[in-house]
Amino acid sequence: MKSRVTAFRGSKHFQLKHVTDHVIAAIAIPGTGSLNNAAISDLGDTTIVVDTFLTLQAASDLKEAAIYLTGKPVSYVVNTLWHSDHISGNQVFLPEARIILTTASHEIMDTFSRQRLSQYQENIEQMVIHGRSSCVQLLTFGGGHTQSDVIVYIPEEKLVVTGDLVLSKHHPVLTNANPQEWLHILEQIEQLGIETIVPGHGNICSLRELREVKDYISDILGLVAKAMQNKQHIDSLEVPDKYQGWSFTTYFKSNLTKVQTLISAYEDEQ
Ligand SMILES: [Zn+2]
Repeated sequence: MKSRVTAFRGSKHFQLKHVTDHVIAAIAIPGTGSLNNAAISDLGDTTIVVDTFLTLQAASDLKEAAIYLTGKPVSYVVNTLWHSDHISGNQVFLPEARIILTTASHEIMDTFSRQRLSQYQENIEQMVIHGRSSCVQLLTFGGGHTQSDVIVYIPEEKLVVTGDLVLSKHHPVLTNANPQEWLHILEQIEQLGIETIVPGHGNICSLRELREVKDYISDILGLVAKAMQNKQHIDSLEVPDKYQGWSFTTYFKSNLTKVQTLISAYEDEQ
C-alpha cells in the first residue's frame, strides 16, 4: 500500500499517511470538508474505513482512496462516534459497505438526523473482523467523549484508531462527555500495549498524547472545582500554559461550562 499512497492523485480534504502495513490514515486538512481524521484498513481481502468526514465531497475522495489503495470495494465502515464530522459521509459507501456503530450511537443519530441506517447497523461490544492477512477488533468501553464511543484496535500492529477519545494537540471536546468515564476508558486503552494512535483530530501520535488528554481532562476538572470552591467565575480562567499552542481553543470555555454544570448537578444530588 505504501507506494500507492504516494501515487494517489490526492485530495484537498485530507493527506494520506502510511502508518503500518495494514493502516493508512487520512489526516484532515483544516478548513476543508473533512474536519476529523479517518483511516483505511486493508485486511488482505477486506477493506475497512473508519469514520467518513463532514461532507460528501470529502467522503467521496476517501472512498476513491480506499478503493485505489486496496484494490477492493469497502466492506465495512466503522463510526467511532455519532458527531457529524465522523458520520456525514456514510451514505457514499452504501450499499456496498455495512455501517458499524453502537446501538446507542445509532439511536442518537436516528433522533438527530432521522437517517434510516437500521438495516446496516450492528450492535457491538467487541467484534472482530477477520481478513486474510490481518484482523481488527472493534472495542467499546462505553461512553466517554460521547454517550458511546468505539475504537478500532489492531493488536499485531500495536495500533488504535480512537476517534475523538484521543486528539493530538487539540482541546478535547467535552460537550457530550462524561469526563470520569473518559479517563477510565483512556486507562483501559493504555492497557492494550499500543504504540501508535490515529487520533480523531491532529497528527498520528502515541501514548504520550493519550496521556496529555488525560492530563487535560483532569486539569479542567481541577480548575473548575477549585474556582467553584473559591466562588471565582469560570470566565476568568485562562488556558493553562501547556495547552496554549493547541487547536480548538474555542472549546476551552465550553469545556469549563460543561464541567461546572456536571459538578453543580452532582452537588445538587448530594
Ligand atoms: Zn471529531
